[in-house]
Amino acid sequence: MASLITAQRGTRDVLPPESLLWNKIEETARSFFARYHVLEVRTPIFEATELFTRGIGEATDIVSKEMYSFVDRGDRSITLRPEGTAGVVRAYLQGKLASTMQGPVKLWYAGPMFRYERPQAGRQRQFNQIGVEVLGTSDPKADAEVITLALDIFAALSVSNLRVELNSLGCEDCRPAYRERLVAYFAERQADYCTTCLDRMETNPLRVLDCKVPACKDLNREAPSLQDVLCEGCREHQAKLFGYLDAVGVKHQLNPRLVRGLDYYTRTVFEIVAEEKLGSQDTVCAGGRYDKLVEECGGPPTPAVGWAFGEERLAILLEASTPKDAIDLYVAAMGPEAEVAGFKLAHGLRNHGDWRIECGFGDRKLKKQLEVADKLGAQWVAIIGEAELEAGEIQLKNLAARTTQTVAMDAESLAAALTAALPESGS
Ligand code: ATP
Ligand code: MG
Repeated sequence: MASLITAQRGTRDVLPPESLLWNKIEETARSFFARYHVLEVRTPIFEATELFTRGIGEATDIVSKEMYSFVDRGDRSITLRPEGTAGVVRAYLQGKLASTMQGPVKLWYAGPMFRYERPQAGRQRQFNQIGVEVLGTSDPKADAEVITLALDIFAALSVSNLRVELNSLGCEDCRPAYRERLVAYFAERQADYCTTCLDRMETNPLRVLDCKVPACKDLNREAPSLQDVLCEGCREHQAKLFGYLDAVGVKHQLNPRLVRGLDYYTRTVFEIVAEEKLGSQDTVCAGGRYDKLVEECGGPPTPAVGWAFGEERLAILLEASTPKDAIDLYVAAMGPEAEVAGFKLAHGLRNHGDWRIECGFGDRKLKKQLEVADKLGAQWVAIIGEAELEAGEIQLKNLAARTTQTVAMDAESLAAALTAALPESGS
């Protein structure tokens, strides 16, 4: 046997039963996207490198050290998407959604993202995000709506102990003055910051506030706060957002040190943080307003707001509630003719309703098949032996209730019997 080729570092398989949990996460998210009238967009996994360097910003960690970029056979620089927003904005512009859809345009996406990072718990090189973007409105109600959307999904999944942290990064009117204050503050303490922060002071001083090095964190505690210098418009935007969140009872915390890793944010930024189980990778969902990005990408002025959550991190939080795999019906047929009849019955029933059905494989004794049915968590077993074949009937056994009834051997009759037994069988 040849040696086994294993998955790449920083990538992983989502195997059953964990995949059932992922299905549940995705179904729950989809259900709430529908309720908020957010439509799906699917964009390619690779894009022109320039989309990300321009959109996300050259000085960000993502662009400067984490991108999976390569030159393709046609000598083009291609990048595996490190995040979803830039691609969605490109698709929004290229697909002219501003004119084909009633605005604001509310979109969601789900899929793999790629970043060359140091793999650890909750941090991978290929990971999955589900995200939302609302394009074409500067109304703080949109900020509030995306935040409650995320929280509704998490609540429906019964994720507890989440904290919502918010800040405003200001706008082009008030941020430059803040930037100057910040640079002045850093300049007085330069010697004590880490070398990465020294670089950031040159390229993107706000990012210094995001440093995880304890010494830098300490120094940052006294740094000037954007909250003190927000302009009237930004202040009002934030107050309205808080008003909407308060109206629906969303607890939120102002964190004046919160900045995000991407360059494109303006005004609102937020993180939804898990207070347990995730260790240092504790941010499940992150997002904010990006009123300038669409223009950066070559479009008309289009204010927008969105978020993305990491499915891996959510799956870690929800591990204990991984759904159990179980089937509704097991078809146990004995003998070659009965096997064909059972195969036909299962096929008919599968096209009659959404019962989960297994047929036994390999001609086996009834006792053995009942054991298999039990292990599969079947609620019902349809037994077909020679006598049943002859009578044109099946024995329908309810494994939990230990009852058996005779049902005509056709999908309609079996479906009717199973339906009659609901809610017992309905799960
Ligand atoms: P962090 O620094 O916490 O990893 P980030 O600022 O890089 O986050 P965003 O780019 O805003 O994160 O991505 C949003 C969410 O996607 C994160 O909150 C996290 O749940 C998830 N995420 C980001 N990077 C990874 C990764 N490498 N592996 C797994 N999940 C990730
Ligand atoms: Mg990161």
